[in-house]
Amino acid sequence: LTEKYGMRPLSYWSEEDAIDGKAVNALTIILKGRGCSFAKRESCTMCGYNNDSPPSDMMAQDYVDQIRSILDEIDGRGYIKIFTSGSFTDPNEVPPESCENILRIIKERSPDSRILFESRPEFITHDVMNRLLSIHKDLEVALGLESAEDRVRMGLIGKRYPLGEFFRAADIVIASGARLKTYLILKPPFLSEAGSIKDVLSSIRTLSDRYPGSTVSVNPVNVQKGTMVEGLYEIGSFRPPWLWSVIEVLRSGKDIAGDRLRIVSYPTGGGKRRGAHNCGKCDPQLLEAIKRFDVSNVLEDLPSPVGCCRAEWGQSMTTSI
Ligand code: SF4
Ligand SMILES: [Zn+2]
Repeated sequence: LTEKYGMRPLSYWSEEDAIDGKAVNALTIILKGRGCSFAKRESCTMCGYNNDSPPSDMMAQDYVDQIRSILDEIDGRGYIKIFTSGSFTDPNEVPPESCENILRIIKERSPDSRILFESRPEFITHDVMNRLLSIHKDLEVALGLESAEDRVRMGLIGKRYPLGEFFRAADIVIASGARLKTYLILKPPFLSEAGSIKDVLSSIRTLSDRYPGSTVSVNPVNVQKGTMVEGLYEIGSFRPPWLWSVIEVLRSGKDIAGDRLRIVSYPTGGGKRRGAHNCGKCDPQLLEAIKRFDVSNVLEDLPSPVGCCRAEWGQSMTTSI
């Protein structure tokens, strides 16, 4: 199997990020793996990760070997983000001993790094958090809440867990001493551009009240292969969100949360037809501004909400797709 899939990560790259207001040299690692076990049963309406994942015969050692293959990259990093296209703490996806060994290796090479991983809330327990934190003290857990509205998360996205389940997991993350990062989705299927902006801002309000000091990452929907969103996109019933909408939620979200939340966005496929995009002309400039804001979280780094295709975006606020 290791020959078949190779033992190097699917991909990895360096990027600038920030921790506690200080710029750090971050490393993002996408591991090959069994993929999200939830997606094997039903899958979320916008998520095509399961299509990239190899069958479920990855061995515990295969996960660890992927990290070992890029040891030099890990050295001296301030922030390391591990993605498995699923849940790092799902024992049916990543064997628990692999999780522990991965953290051990990173701790040895980059003892002062913050390590981020993603999980569905059901895999977050006091036991899991205590076990992982006993290996490495600085952990950040990213939970895909997507929306504080059950109707949006459970109905339109198909995540199948209620808000209370997110609160349970997020409370454990905070109580354990780890950091919390919450993903919110911008423009799930069947929600208009304007409706989705409202939904994200209302979710930001909830998170800002309940989890001050945490981070919110706004993920504009991009059209991934084999998803329900792709089906709608192909018949002209879905347009990925405008970059103006991303700017709008970052700006108004920061107004709502102030210093209580760090708000970021990394629009996958930004500026492309299948990702968040504007008219094509102003896209690079807006994406650059979002990148600057991700690091600084200072409103002045966002472009003024005028010019180029802003009026056309205003029109889209009145349509349903
Ligand atoms: S969004 Fe997350 S929970 Fe949903 S199918 Fe994708 S990886 Fe699984
Ligand atoms: Zn434009």
